[in-house]
Amino acid sequence: MTGPATEFGPRSSPTTDHRPPTTSFPCDTHTHTARCGHAVGRDEEIVEAAVARGLSAIAITDHAPFYWLPPERHDPSLAMAADELPGYVESVLDLQARYRGRIEVLLGIEADYVAGREDELARLLSAYPFDVVLGSVHLIDGWLVDAPSSLARLSQGQGEVDRVWASYAELLIAATRSGLFDVLAHLDLPKKFGHRSSRPFAGRQADVVAAVAASTCAVEISSAGRRKPVGEDYPAAELLRELAAAGVPFVLSSDAHAPAEVGYAFGELVAAGRSAGIAAVCAFRGRHRRTVAL
Ligand code: ZN
Ligand code: FE
Ligand code: FE
Ligand code: ZN
Repeated sequence: MTGPATEFGPRSSPTTDHRPPTTSFPCDTHTHTARCGHAVGRDEEIVEAAVARGLSAIAITDHAPFYWLPPERHDPSLAMAADELPGYVESVLDLQARYRGRIEVLLGIEADYVAGREDELARLLSAYPFDVVLGSVHLIDGWLVDAPSSLARLSQGQGEVDRVWASYAELLIAATRSGLFDVLAHLDLPKKFGHRSSRPFAGRQADVVAAVAASTCAVEISSAGRRKPVGEDYPAAELLRELAAAGVPFVLSSDAHAPAEVGYAFGELVAAGRSAGIAAVCAFRGRHRRTVAL
């Protein structure tokens, strides 16, 4: 069944369109759908946008249910509910089959790292055939560091901003070492609204880089920050150089929350990667990664 035409023009049938994919970019490894409550676009529209952008692969990585909260505390504006997860998986696997030969559709998920709740997340992740799992630290002391509601705390002065960054770095290192994640998302997220720490990651940047380099995690080069007040990619250029020098693998991401954002500023991301000394990125399937020239 076909839906309405997207902003990228009328859709063509995947069963009759055998054009070879143009492989300008390997994969957009971080995208969301309307299911999370704060993005727009059905799953199929995200895939169609990726086809229109000339991507060879697209990972749909919607926000995992908040597994650390009881179901009655579910907030439909932040993530899918626990009972929506099976339907999500089914929908993405269906698109994977329908678009085979045209674009590779990967079953991904973006999961929050919550210290002390690793076993619950491991159970959730092992229940489905994910291709790629993104790990995010959004929660610091129970509040979302990237939500506008956190501005009250971040506006309390440099001392508080430094405490937020230090707590974030601590959690990020724990997430990196948890073994739960394939890719670390938006590595320097607390800068989103423009709040910088006095020293990078409040003095912990070298520890963060060392932890990531010692782990099996890749890091996303994400254009999402370009659409936010901070106006720059995640990770910042200097951090990206340090990670690259430490031998960390990378993926390209838009963190699209709308079909129009799929593959957002990928030309600029490639340029940023190359100027940081990155010659290859990786692609995931079945939670194994392979290297693709940039
Ligand atoms: Zn989101
Ligand atoms: Fe995130
Ligand atoms: Fe995301
Ligand atoms: Zn995200």
